[in-house]
Formats: sequence, C-alpha cells, structure tokens
Amino acid sequence: MPSPLTTDELRALDKAHLWHPFTQMRDWCATDHDPIVIERGEGAWLWDTEGNRYLDGNSSIWTNIHGHRHPAIDAALREQLEKMAHCSALGFTNEPAIRLAKALVDCFPEGTLTRVFYTDDGSTAMECACKMALQFRQLTGHPERHRFVAFDQAYHGDTAGAASLGGIGTFHERFQKTGFDVIHVSDVEALRALPEEVVNTVAGVAIEPLIQGAAGMRLWPGGMLRELRTWCDETDTFLIFDEVMTGFGRTGKLFACQHEDVLPDFLALAKGLTGGYLPLAATLTTERVFSAFLGTPEEQKTFYYGHSYCANPLGCAAALASLSLFETEETLSGVETKRVRLAESLQSHFGDHPSVGGIRQLGLIAAIDLVKDRTTSEPFPWSDLTGAKVCIAARKHGLLTRPVLDTLVFMPPLCVTEDEIEHGVAALARAVDEVLG
Ligand SMILES: *Cc1c(COP(=O)(O)O)cnc(C)c1O
Repeated sequence: MPSPLTTDELRALDKAHLWHPFTQMRDWCATDHDPIVIERGEGAWLWDTEGNRYLDGNSSIWTNIHGHRHPAIDAALREQLEKMAHCSALGFTNEPAIRLAKALVDCFPEGTLTRVFYTDDGSTAMECACKMALQFRQLTGHPERHRFVAFDQAYHGDTAGAASLGGIGTFHERFQKTGFDVIHVSDVEALRALPEEVVNTVAGVAIEPLIQGAAGMRLWPGGMLRELRTWCDETDTFLIFDEVMTGFGRTGKLFACQHEDVLPDFLALAKGLTGGYLPLAATLTTERVFSAFLGTPEEQKTFYYGHSYCANPLGCAAALASLSLFETEETLSGVETKRVRLAESLQSHFGDHPSVGGIRQLGLIAAIDLVKDRTTSEPFPWSDLTGAKVCIAARKHGLLTRPVLDTLVFMPPLCVTEDEIEHGVAALARAVDEVLG
C-alpha cells in the first residue's frame, strides 16, 4: 500500500494533474476552491475524506441504480474477479457477456430486439448505432441515405459522431461539422414537414425517448414515440432510441419506450446498465439489421467496429447482477411509491416558491427551474451561475447534485427511501433560500 495522503495533499495533486469533464479548470484550480474528495459510498449515500455524508442526489451523474456497494453486485464482481477481469471479444467470447445479451434481449418481445453489440459508454453506444445504420444503408443499395435527423436540445454523447447529433449549442456547435451529416428538428411536426427529397437521404432518427436529460429534463409530449414510429415506418427510416439516461427503471418502467409500447430499430443503453458500477454499454438491434451484414469476406459486409474492452466480463457480471435485482427486490414497484413521495416533497417545498418557475418529474427524475420572478418567468442572467451556487450550498445540507444551468436536478438512485427523498428535496429548498435570500 502507498502511504496515505491527506485531503489537502489529494486536492493539491488533483489540481496539479487532473483535467475534469465539463469543468472550467481555472475555477476548479483556484486557491479558494476545495474540491470534495469522495472516498466511499453505501446505498444512496457518499462520504468524503473528511467524514461528511451526502445523499447521491444525481445518482453519480445518472448512473447508479440500486445504490453504492450493493451486496449482490459486489459479490458478483468478486466472483468474476476470481476468474478474470478482462478478455477480448475479438475472436473469443465469455459467459457473462453471453448471459447478459440473453437477459437484455429477454426484456423485449420475442423476435424484436435480438442482437446485442457491446461498447464502453453512452457515446459509443450511439456512435455504434449510427454506424450500423449507415453501413446497413450502403449494404442494401441506398448509400444516399447517409444523414440523421436529431432533435434540438438533444444530447447523445461527446465522441465526434454522437456530438454531431447533439443540439445543445454550448456543447455541440464547435464540433457540429466534424461528425455525421445531421438535420436538427424541433418536434414531430417539423420532421413531417421535411421535403421528400430530404427524407430520402435520411438513414435514421435519433431521440432520447420521453425526456431530454442534458437539455434540463425536458419532457416530450405524450404519444410522440408512436408518431415517430409511424413516420419511420412510412418512410422506411430507422428509429434510434437513446435510453442511456432513461434506461433501467429511472422513469418508472425498465425502459422509457415501454411507456408507449414502442420499439426502436436501435436501442442504446449505458449509464445504469451495470447499476452504475462500471463503464459498459450495449446497442441492441433487430435481425433485419444484423442479417444485412452477413456475407463472404469478398463481399466486405463485416461491421469493422469495436473497442478493446467490448463485452468486458466484469462489467457484464455487474450488469447481470443489477438486472436480477429488479426482480428479487421488486425495484419497479418500489419506484412507483417513491415517485408519489417525490411529487409530494417537490410540491410542499417548491409548489408556490417565489423563485421556482416550474417543476417537472418523470419517475424518479425531478427538475426544478429557478427564475428571478415567478410571475414573469424572467430568468437569472446565466453568467450568475445561480443553479451551480445552489447545488454548492446544498452540500452543507448533505446533498450532492449538479444543475443544468438554472434547472436543479434531483435524481436519486432507485434504492432511495422516502425519508431520503424528503432529505434531498429539503436540502435543495434550504440551499435555494440561502442563495436567493
Ligand atoms: C450521458 C448520456 C450519453 C453519453 O453517455 P456517456 O456514457 O457519457 O458517453 C448519451 N445519451 C444520453 C441521453 C445521456 O444521458
């Protein structure tokens, strides 16, 4: 064991050598910024190196499902570790990956989504779906169908292809031209209005079903997925669902698309797939897509795509254990009770709060919009970083979360108790009052 480091030593080394995601490092490295060093977790809670306890109010950026250190997932990982941590999926296979593929396919009606391609994270799960869609069009005689339709405010990840689908100016504008050829639309109506000669160039339509996460938990109108499915069927266009955030119970059903009984041609899964333990992702697709890639070596139909850690056995073992917990712990029926409790807490703390312009909720995903004036919905200047200040203030009250601009996000692990929900929402309310006076 290396000699222990004090919290201050860890902070100094971090500031000297790390570069954090989505972070202005000038502020991070400022002398008056003392980053929290998280040391351990249990259930819905995290502890820092100074012994402070925080509710994991955004499920460690939307990944954690059954809590930290869940005994069943820990045990599955230990058991797999006794055998091996990793082996390649190029030329070999492994039992956890096989079992997980079967378990994922079994989540959907027989004969629908039947094939599983493993990648590492949400971005690559989407990248993989798009590349499969493009190559399918080339292999089936329609190379002119080389574009994608995505939605304004969408977020599908940060690799070049996934980012080009994105519709959030601050994140995506800079790299819009370095990825896929993408048409952005605001809603189904705008999609329907696309001229036929444009539609004939489209390989697929990508969407975060029911709710756009990074856009600030924006809810889509009910029935939209069905309308999309119909449009895609009529135009012979692929429907690509990005359930990287919504998957694995977050919305109250195992997958968001099950709320509207709609199936896509490609389904991207990541964040919660391993219960929030390890980076593993999966792109599910149909036998129709899969079979187009079969052929002799000379036909050049192979899908030349993959990553070193595809089908990582440790990740697959964690994912299998996490999926089983939905049955053994009846997670989803618990989520329904907690959803109601969350709605009550939000209403009692923020229902008529003068600085709250709106509250949105889907399952255990909650968003609270802070505004300068409730009656006019006038926003705070974005450069005030009001949402960020509130989330920093909430730490003193035992809550960790991150806002999307001035939208506060509360999205605890599904194992959260009703008391913990109240603790989290109350902590946010106290922080709002402290910051806004
Ligand atoms: C987080 C997220 C992604 C990207 O996933 P990474 O694992 O961060 O690459 C893609 N789509 C949605 C909807 C997400 O929430």
